[in-house]
Amino acid sequence: MSLFQESFTTTLPPVRVRFGAGVRHTLGEEMAALGLSRALILTTPQQAETGAQFADLLGERAAGLYSRAAMHTPVAISEEAVARALEVGADCVVAVGGGSTTGLGKAIALRTDLPQIVVPTTYAGSEATGILGQTEGGRKTTITTPKVQPEVILYDAELVRSLPVGMTVTSALNAMAHAAEGLYAQNRSPVSTLMALEGMRAFRDALPRVMDNPDDLSARGETLYGAWLCGMVLGTVGMALHHKLCHTLGGSFDLPHAETHSVILPHAIAYNEAAAARELAPVAEMFGGPTAGQALHDFAIRMKAPLALRDLGMKEADLDRATEIATQNPYWNPRPVEAGAVRRLLQAAWDGTAPAA
Ligand code: NAD
Repeated sequence: MSLFQESFTTTLPPVRVRFGAGVRHTLGEEMAALGLSRALILTTPQQAETGAQFADLLGERAAGLYSRAAMHTPVAISEEAVARALEVGADCVVAVGGGSTTGLGKAIALRTDLPQIVVPTTYAGSEATGILGQTEGGRKTTITTPKVQPEVILYDAELVRSLPVGMTVTSALNAMAHAAEGLYAQNRSPVSTLMALEGMRAFRDALPRVMDNPDDLSARGETLYGAWLCGMVLGTVGMALHHKLCHTLGGSFDLPHAETHSVILPHAIAYNEAAAARELAPVAEMFGGPTAGQALHDFAIRMKAPLALRDLGMKEADLDRATEIATQNPYWNPRPVEAGAVRRLLQAAWDGTAPAA
């Protein structure tokens, strides 16, 4: 079936992307091509050792290492990192890590216009978007601007091998959620749909291989390919109920990012299934289930993903408040966002049962 739409509008970002096991070794070459010679390398504290290896790799092109990236991009950390970038005379940032580290690179770019090279080590997909979420005083705000879109992405399968199996699965489902919601986005295009379906297919095929052998570089590479495609979907079309629920649960109840996406995905897709039947039909077919929601639930079980919000530390007593927050100012959604139905969705996600048909 053709994905052609008679009318659509799309803007694709001018980003250079390189794939390959060991491609991080081209970092100096990539910097030189852009006329850059002093990189501030960014990591989380947990990946400081990887950051040090990048400093060795870059030699005199490394201006410094800042290893305090943190989840949800706290503004105080971003300001400290900007001060560090100025102090060492950096002419670019190199973010090595997951969405938290990429977020810090974007926050620096927003404030300084420094170019960004990202070397992703999870599947979150932030490197492919011009979106930045930041937190200050317990409030998360999101900005979308080409100013934060990274210029170069180096997808190196060797770096994602160290991602623990549990995080591998939740991060993959996090990426797949961008694609799944992109299928029914109001502003989707044939190209976003193509990327969404191919991204989900890449995870369907390669994730089980990674689970069997986390060191399988070919399978790791294919999951990174899936992450890029899913991230491109996130960056080019609007997200809906699934992302609103995850932002609510992460922002107001402090639930972990990727795990929350994993648990909510089958339920949010099942919620929208009747209203977006044609758009979601390929997902049911691809994952082999009677419905897309059920098929994704079964895939999550096969991948040993977490299934219940209660296992992530959510209190049952907070489900009413979560419903209230998630249904205030909802994002556009194919099915009307109705409080009673959302409350039932959250209950099923809390219990860890199969999504409602
Ligand atoms: P993360 O970046 O917070 O990483 C989680 C932990 O895993 C960190 O301690 C990190 O150092 C470690 N880690 C990462 N890769 C590793 C590897 N290969 N081996 C060993 N340890 C590794 O987690 P994430 O899920 O990638 O990112 C979540 C954050 O990204 C959230 O703040 C989310 O809002 C943001 N995000 C933003 C966008 C966007 O477009 N703006 C998109 C997706 C996610």
